[in-house]
Amino acid sequence: MKLKAIIFDFDGVIHDTFELVYGLMAETVGNGLTKEEFRDLSDGNVHDHDRINKNHINQYFQKQGKEYDYLKLEENIKLFLEEIEKQFTLFIVSSNQEAVLDVYFHNNNFTHVFTEVLGVETHTSKIAKFDHIFEKHDLRVDECIFVTDTLGDIREGNKVGLRSIAVDFGFHERKRLEKGSPYKIVSSFDELEKVIGSL
Ligand SMILES: [Mg+2]
Repeated sequence: MKLKAIIFDFDGVIHDTFELVYGLMAETVGNGLTKEEFRDLSDGNVHDHDRINKNHINQYFQKQGKEYDYLKLEENIKLFLEEIEKQFTLFIVSSNQEAVLDVYFHNNNFTHVFTEVLGVETHTSKIAKFDHIFEKHDLRVDECIFVTDTLGDIREGNKVGLRSIAVDFGFHERKRLEKGSPYKIVSSFDELEKVIGSL
């Protein structure tokens, strides 16, 4: 097996949006949603969580649009992505909106690195988005790896046999990530680059 493609989650990996997403979600869901309860929403697919209905998601998306317009992609993350793009095909698979992520990458002059950015418009299930990538780009699951910050994502990857490298600087802490048995857990982009280099 030779690694050919790296699939990145967006929120909590490419951009630290925890406070922003928590704030908007707490406002939308109400009932004093705590940070801990908010973290629980990502133990599985947020779209399937019993505390979240379609109305919440629609309201949330209406609120978030503008907020993402002002986010700045960190320089060290740009350099990291440009470096690994020389060797691997890069994708984004997110539960966020493609429209919002497209504006984000456009505003940050960073539309040249990801082959596809797949969000909720493609499908609410990440599994369906993984399958789309495997088929369209003629990739086997063992030629890909998924980089994410939540247990729910690791679990969706596990369901199709996709290995994950988890980052512990996003929405979920190391202890929670361990429950999904990811291939590795890393604490920085430097560490991530080393693990990718070892595959
Ligand atoms: Mg995430």
